[in-house]
Amino acid sequence: MQLPNISDSIQFLPGVGPKRAASFAKVGIKNVEDLLYFFPSKYLDRTRILTVSRVTQLVINGYDGEVTIVGEVIEKEVIQNRKRQIFKVRFKDSSGFFECVWFSGIKYFKTLFNENEHYAISAKPVLTRYGHLQFTHPDFDKFTDDESNDFINTGKIIPFYSIPKELRTKNIGDIGLRKIILAAVEKYSGLVEETLPHELIAKHSLLNCNSAIKNIHFPETTELLNKAKERYKYEELFYIELLVALRKYNFLKKTNGIQFKIHQKIIKQFLDTLPFELTNDQLKVLSEIKNDMISAKPMNRLLQGDVGSGKTIVALISILIAISNGYQTVFMAPTEILANQHFENIKKLLQNFDFDIEQLIGGTKKSEKRKIIEKIKNNECNILIGTHALIEENVDFENLGLVVIDEQHRFGVAHRGKLIRKGISPDVLIMTATPIPRTLTMTVYGDLDLSLIKELPKNRIPVKTVLRGENSLPKIYKFIIDKQKEGYQTFIVYPLVEESEKMELKAAEVYYEKLKQSELKELKIGLLHGRMTWREKDETMQRFNNKEFDVLISTTVIEVGIDIPNANIMVINDAERFGLSQLHQLRGRIGRGTKQAYCILVTKNELAKKTNSFNFNFEYLSRAQIEYHKSKIRLNAMVKYGSGFQLSEVDLKLRGPGDIFGKMQSGFPQLKFADLTTDQELLINAKQDAFNIIEQDIKLGNPANKAIRRKLKNFYKDNLNYATIG
Ligand code: ADP
Ligand code: MG
Repeated sequence: MQLPNISDSIQFLPGVGPKRAASFAKVGIKNVEDLLYFFPSKYLDRTRILTVSRVTQLVINGYDGEVTIVGEVIEKEVIQNRKRQIFKVRFKDSSGFFECVWFSGIKYFKTLFNENEHYAISAKPVLTRYGHLQFTHPDFDKFTDDESNDFINTGKIIPFYSIPKELRTKNIGDIGLRKIILAAVEKYSGLVEETLPHELIAKHSLLNCNSAIKNIHFPETTELLNKAKERYKYEELFYIELLVALRKYNFLKKTNGIQFKIHQKIIKQFLDTLPFELTNDQLKVLSEIKNDMISAKPMNRLLQGDVGSGKTIVALISILIAISNGYQTVFMAPTEILANQHFENIKKLLQNFDFDIEQLIGGTKKSEKRKIIEKIKNNECNILIGTHALIEENVDFENLGLVVIDEQHRFGVAHRGKLIRKGISPDVLIMTATPIPRTLTMTVYGDLDLSLIKELPKNRIPVKTVLRGENSLPKIYKFIIDKQKEGYQTFIVYPLVEESEKMELKAAEVYYEKLKQSELKELKIGLLHGRMTWREKDETMQRFNNKEFDVLISTTVIEVGIDIPNANIMVINDAERFGLSQLHQLRGRIGRGTKQAYCILVTKNELAKKTNSFNFNFEYLSRAQIEYHKSKIRLNAMVKYGSGFQLSEVDLKLRGPGDIFGKMQSGFPQLKFADLTTDQELLINAKQDAFNIIEQDIKLGNPANKAIRRKLKNFYKDNLNYATIG
């Protein structure tokens, strides 16, 4: 007789057989190992069960999510309703009655439910017009007498699998599948191959693979379930960090960077032209950049600094290092208006030097463009400034040494690669003011070295942020008018009404006309919106900067980067419609001068109440209630926190990691177990462990790393295109 093996077909497990095995194979479960790694999607835990009266109350309060309830069958009937059949089962629990209804599969369900049997029902509850609690096509789970006793008395935890349709239609239901998996666990869980190095299991006191498999399916206790979950979380993060580390070290291995020399004199000469001293953080970051630039490995650095923290100067000094070594540099911005602002700014800052600085954006004339591209090819242009799109498509550098990418968050990391390929392997500095929560920097951006500017220049006065209801608008207009007399200028921002530029234009324009003719008619008002060409936008900004307007009405086009030191009031209308990072970016436009700046968030009256404590528990709330609470937290977080880093943590809690993670980089493995909002600690450990291993054994040839090799090849095949293992 053959010994049991984890790669056995599941056909011989009790309750399977060849036909069902074929159905399992269709959903990717081909052998016992696949089945053992088909984990429950949730668990039924005694502490989570609600009573009829509690659920009724929740529904009345507007809750529209799922609940779990346990009841005893009291009767069942098939109702003929016109052409349609409805199957209905009535249940009771200690506090009342509820019913479940089915519109299909009636023949099957009819025989399933019998009087006095106990079921756990999980579904969205509704109240019928007769006031009955009702569930339609619920998930359900039958308890045998034993089970129900166990379950009620000892708090046994029961796994729920989300069963693929393919299997459901073959009559493999919750109970059946649970039995099949139980048989597999009993016979095979001792044979599962370990996927983590033993050293790490010991170091973090993790469950080993055998015990973890057992407890993830049929937990003996809540503690053991949590330990099992923790192990898989750690494992998942560990493998993600392995991919990150492989990407980083393979990149470093393959490419030779430029070893720049630092020409102190030029840098000093430049610093002497500045009207201010660099902050300590700016100096610290500069020394990190310098170290990268003089070393033989290519720089691959992410510079994170809050809005207004002075990243541009840091970038410019890096640029000076590169061009004083005879290399070309490129500075890319996400929008034309921002590129243009950098261009003008950098030209001015370097006016005492003899460097060729060019600009390439959508508005550049064709003939001009050709000339610039020619210059770049011939190494006559030292600094090229422009938008990502244009530079990536059109430009070939003769001698590219440094790439600076501003406000990277607007672009996928993939864009990076495109440009890097244009040079031999230029150093890369990516700058972002969108604070990225730490967990994300360690994953999505984990292959970059990180520099942080935390302090703002000393002369800054923190922006005063307030929350106001719409009925305060008259007061706000009066405030703007009064402050104008003190020399203040004001931004008034409107959100996109819809996701279309046409509507955007309309909203801003309508308010522009209205305010100009009534509330703010004594002031000079300008208008800025997304449909203007960059030249029109730029001209409007210039005029605002020259104080030709007191007030600039704008859509969110002013969001990123723009610098107008004298505009120190910002009114953001319908502020609840903006995301946190967007609000923070907008607010970053003010508070750059020497006056006290004001950010006024205007929202619906009922949302304008101030609160200091945030409750992130949205359990048992309706979707509308959740939206309301989230808006409230966002707005109040803006009032409470000035720092983008604090706001980014709030944002992560509100939006959940999936949303942020997904936007930043697709193609990254999806997280199934770990949650980047709550598992920071695990992530930090996993990263350290993974990087240690790759630093010592990049080919993973060491016998101790055999398990890792095997798992990477089996489970992360698709993600390995980031990296290669030997
Ligand atoms: P960001 O980091 O948002 O890109 P900027 O680089 O645009 O910020 O800098 C914002 C403003 O702060 C600019 O006007 C810049 O000249 C000024 N600045 C930069 N560094 C300092 C400093 N050390 N002290 C005072 N002002 C500074
Ligand atoms: Mg900037």
